Amino acid sequence: MPNPVDKIKPAVRAIKAYTLPPYRASIKINQNENPWDLPDEIKEEASRRLAHRHWSRYPDFVPTSLLERLAAFAGWKPEGTLAGNGSNELIQATLMVCIGPGSRVLLSEPTFTLYRQIVTVMGGETVAVSLTPDFQFDFEAIRRRINGERIDLIIFCSPNNPTGSSARADQIRQLGQEFDGLIVIDEAYHEFSDQSMVSLLNELPNLIVLRTFSKAMAMAGLRVGYLLSSPDLVREVHKGTLPYNLNFFSQTVAEVACERYELLEASVDAIKAERTRLYGELTTIKGVEVVPLTANFMLLRTPVAPRLLFEDLLARDILVRDVSSYPMLSEYIRVSVGLPNENDQLIAALAEVIQSRTTAGV
Ligand code: PMP
Repeated sequence: MPNPVDKIKPAVRAIKAYTLPPYRASIKINQNENPWDLPDEIKEEASRRLAHRHWSRYPDFVPTSLLERLAAFAGWKPEGTLAGNGSNELIQATLMVCIGPGSRVLLSEPTFTLYRQIVTVMGGETVAVSLTPDFQFDFEAIRRRINGERIDLIIFCSPNNPTGSSARADQIRQLGQEFDGLIVIDEAYHEFSDQSMVSLLNELPNLIVLRTFSKAMAMAGLRVGYLLSSPDLVREVHKGTLPYNLNFFSQTVAEVACERYELLEASVDAIKAERTRLYGELTTIKGVEVVPLTANFMLLRTPVAPRLLFEDLLARDILVRDVSSYPMLSEYIRVSVGLPNENDQLIAALAEVIQSRTTAGV
């Protein structure tokens, strides 16, 4: 009997699944979530609204009230806004409607793994341009590639996961004017950087901005993301999403979060303040280098091999991300900014682990 798996596309069989091993620890700083939960006032208001709704009914085909709130929140137009089941779905939908065999997508690596994964599954090809040695986007090299060969789409993650690299609006404006393909900017961490490309949407009809409620907005468990672009592009990307992709529970909470953003803003400000403190304290530990970042996470290089560091910290109930398999990052781990007491514990544990491992000569 032939192997049924032979019917799977070779490009899919060739890649590893994008997964995260299910480690558990009290201090969870491996996924860049907001360590302060969604404020109770938002949960309570959403629960009140949900109690009045028929749970047996489908959500609206087009979530108009959410789109209106998202557009007002982001400073863009509702007809240029699309909501998704996490920004992952919108990355997938965008690539699904643009990419096929022969398409070429430029990525600045290292970056979020999912882009390459989906481009490959869709039969497209990725063209990788390395970040500069100090982890900046290499616009010179990008320009050489787009002038020298066919590129259909460029993805920037800004601030970039996992390096924190940030693109400036003038750089994207210039590139967007020169380039005749699409530019996708993933702004999953924009709230922490005070930078956004939304103001360029009016000028650049080839620009797509992606955002998520999973980071600053403290709703990773509810899976809400949104896309901002020209109404023409939004109509097309919409065809790549599933009907009723966003359940009304998540929709309702996202609406309340937009209306009451001031409640969330306090935690974003607290994360930024903790980021500065954590950065300052980590750099005083002998042998630790910290990549200064614009998001709610940072890269650490230490004298201890990332895998050992990961395990030693896990043994102390702290879960970090080992990013050593990413290009350029063989010596790094990534930590998210946690609650103040979690950051204190990370600082103490790191100092202890590095001290004991380096004394032991490992
Ligand atoms: N983009 C980036 C850069 C991310 O880091 C993540 C989450 N790790 C996502 C998108 C996915 O976000 P969501 O939870 O909205 O699917």
